[in-house]
Amino acid sequence: MPVSTATRLNVPMYDHAAMTAPRKAALLAALERVLDSGAIGWGAEAPAFEAAFADWIGVPHAIGTNSGTAALEVALRALRIGPGDEVITAPNSDIATTAAIHMVGAKAVWVDVEPDTLNMDPAAAAAAVTPRTKALLPVDLYGHPADYGALNALAARHGLAIVADACLSLGARFDGRKIGTLATLSCFSFAPTKHLGAYGSAGAVVTADAELARRMQRLIGYGQDRGRDATGPLVLHEAGMNERLDEVQAAMLRTKLPGLAADIAGRQQRAARYGAGLAGTDVRTPVVRPGAEHSYRNYVVLVEDRDLVRETLAAAGVATHLAYAPPLHLQPVFAPLGFGAGAFPIVEHAAERLLGLPIGPHLSAEQIDYAAATLADAVRGRG
Ligand SMILES: *Cc1c(COP(=O)(O)O)cnc(C)c1O
Repeated sequence: MPVSTATRLNVPMYDHAAMTAPRKAALLAALERVLDSGAIGWGAEAPAFEAAFADWIGVPHAIGTNSGTAALEVALRALRIGPGDEVITAPNSDIATTAAIHMVGAKAVWVDVEPDTLNMDPAAAAAAVTPRTKALLPVDLYGHPADYGALNALAARHGLAIVADACLSLGARFDGRKIGTLATLSCFSFAPTKHLGAYGSAGAVVTADAELARRMQRLIGYGQDRGRDATGPLVLHEAGMNERLDEVQAAMLRTKLPGLAADIAGRQQRAARYGAGLAGTDVRTPVVRPGAEHSYRNYVVLVEDRDLVRETLAAAGVATHLAYAPPLHLQPVFAPLGFGAGAFPIVEHAAERLLGLPIGPHLSAEQIDYAAATLADAVRGRG
């Protein structure tokens, strides 16, 4: 498929203004609704978004939070996980995944990943279970579901909860079932660069468990039940936080939610286009397991001489990112934990080769073809 790379195009990672433009009138109307309501602290927008989001996922309960990071922390607190407990997770993720475990006082136990999806290896997780293990915290890396079949079997064998870090996998499916329906608690981020981006910070936890939902509702709002009934008594049920989804973000998210399915389909189409443009090259394109549906928050390939290839792409106008390299166990903040190079070989092998390409509704077919052709040329040494 000879696509010309002679004419330079810019292929940015994100373009928030372009993505906002077609929805601007609706977003402004939503903002005006919040301003006119006068209900800024405990209004109707957050509960309305929570109901709509739960419905979109297909679960009974969604709890809006102030971020994906807060969603993870609230989920662990709702499970009463704390000091003395262990949570098994992977070191090739956002720092929030491991930081949330530390924030509740528990120990994060890292395990290596599977070579194809780069998601938590269920066999490695099984080998890491101890009497202190309380939960598995898999990440659906880049939008490909973790192996929930094997992980749920492992969790059932040992009586563990599963907290899914689904911050990258909104809309993905495992064996036909949507992410959000496969774990005890599933955590989402609505950071501006995620599938469903707020205009600030936002997140959510979804669950089928009514008791956990009620506990999370209290935890995010100072430990009390939702709302402040000025005439009722002040009853504090939990050692609460202030991690609520705010009314303005909830209104923005409600406005964007109806377009989410089309945006995800658009990501999948762009991924297929990349796949066609990179076929027959030495670029390892993302693996999609049988039965899995990838929602492509990131389109991450593996290449040799990654840093050189990356420079060539940058010079040609193609933005790239390195999620997540170096991995968490090699970051200075976690040096005191004592893991050096070689601790998680599959994570490290990928970290040296991974290259995230721009993907999202802001990109045209021409931009995708240009990025793919530029990358194909670069790995052939003709860049
Ligand atoms: C974005 C992200 C988070 C954190 O979400 P925030 O909304 O930025 O706090 C956690 N885990 C993963 C895998 C993410 O991509």
